[in-house]
Amino acid sequence: MDLAKEKFYRARIVWRKDIAADLWSIRVQPPAEFRFLPGQYATLGVLTADKHIERPYSIVSSPYESELEFFLELVPSGELTPALHGLGVGDELTMRKLAKGRFTLDREVRRNHLLVCTVTGVAPFISYIRTLYRDAQENRFPEGHRLYLLEGASRSWEFGYGEELRRIADEVSWLKYVPTVSRPWEDRNWTGEVGRVDDLIRKYTHLWELAPATTSTYLCGHPKMIENGHGILLRGGWTKEQMKEEIYFVPKARVPVST
Ligand SMILES: Cc1cc2nc3c(=O)[nH]c(=O)nc-3n(C[C@H](O)[C@H](O)[C@H](O)COP(=O)(O)OP(=O)(O)OC[C@H]3O[C@@H](n4cnc5c(N)ncnc54)[C@H](O)[C@@H]3O)c2cc1C
Repeated sequence: MDLAKEKFYRARIVWRKDIAADLWSIRVQPPAEFRFLPGQYATLGVLTADKHIERPYSIVSSPYESELEFFLELVPSGELTPALHGLGVGDELTMRKLAKGRFTLDREVRRNHLLVCTVTGVAPFISYIRTLYRDAQENRFPEGHRLYLLEGASRSWEFGYGEELRRIADEVSWLKYVPTVSRPWEDRNWTGEVGRVDDLIRKYTHLWELAPATTSTYLCGHPKMIENGHGILLRGGWTKEQMKEEIYFVPKARVPVST
């Protein structure tokens, strides 16, 4: 396939960090300019002997960075991620030339932003935060905006960006960060918040005094978390227009067992 004539780049992996057995981050160097807004996704793919497999991936890095970063989860039964997991520094993957998505930070209407995610769903939020961090250093921070991030995982070693987030949250006044672990019995040294992230929405909106009139919400990652989080926010007075959602996959339909 002649990619040069197509809608794709070949992008080289220039960095890889393994975070857990099924989680890793990569940085790729696009061969030409790749424009995107924080929160958008790129379409990555691999070419096999008989087909081109592609999937969307939220961009972790900020547009201020020259390389594009992604946070990936291996789905052992999946079509693309086992192939992606096999790639290392120096290998190439395909990347569509255009970024897509509307999961961007709404800077116009409300100044508080409640960000809720599971595992790799933190990716677009890292892009928001890295961008705002740089904006703040260059006196371009949007006045009065505040980010409140609730991040869920089964165990603490799945927080691929936990250290970076903690460091920034300790340094700036505009970011609050609470990671939570849903399987503390498998993570004996964890001393932070426990429970599923959607179950903490009520507690933290109350604690942080986040009201629907002044707060936009963003849910990203696992479909079940988004469904539950959506319901909790609706019951808390938020409307659909104030909620952005990025659902990473559609769960396989359960095949009914006949007896
Ligand atoms: C806008 C958008 C952004 C995304 N960003 C990211 C990202 O930053 N990082 C990332 O890792 N993924 C992200 N995804 C998910 C990604 O696009 C793929 O769906 C995922 O990597 C699985 O691809 P696959 O080809 O290996 O599995 P598939 O062959 O597509 O799926 C096989 C089966 O596994 C199920 N499945 C898919 N993903 C999961 C999962 N995570 N957990 C459990 N079951 C699953 C599917 O429902 C399907 O039944 C994003 C999805 C969307 C829509």
